Amino acid sequence: MAAILPVAQRGETILTLTAAPVSASEFGSEWLLQLAVAMTATMLERNGVGIAAPQVYISKRVIIVASRPNPRYPDAPEMDAVVMVNPEILAFSEQTCLGEEGCLSVVNQRGEVARAQTICIRYYTIAGQRVETTFEGFPARIVQHEVDHLNGVLFVDRLT
Ligand code: ZN
Repeated sequence: MAAILPVAQRGETILTLTAAPVSASEFGSEWLLQLAVAMTATMLERNGVGIAAPQVYISKRVIIVASRPNPRYPDAPEMDAVVMVNPEILAFSEQTCLGEEGCLSVVNQRGEVARAQTICIRYYTIAGQRVETTFEGFPARIVQHEVDHLNGVLFVDRLT
């Protein structure tokens, strides 16, 4: 069973840093695989629908997006979990939508955040395969929230 990692909380420096890209030599490594396994276990244990490596004190550009209904997000659509390494949002739709967000690093606070309805994203798999795809609605919201973490931004910074 994978280890559950401690989750950094708002106010800690790690959450304000720009995370470093995963390097070519790290793709396909046991280290990267185990990081993804531990991040997934930590996210599931806390009823998250996404997680970013800086939240578990690893300042690297790795996120997991895993929308599914759970006690924190009962209306979330079901999708297979996706591990995204070095994700880059290539395009944001002009159309935005408001939606409630929370964060494993910001306990007991939620807020309405405007996000692009649709995004185009490029990322790499753990093995280093390049993927370009589109996300819409709640999964697109999760991607934007998690990529923010890689740039030192929390959803509370986006509340108007
Ligand atoms: Zn978060």
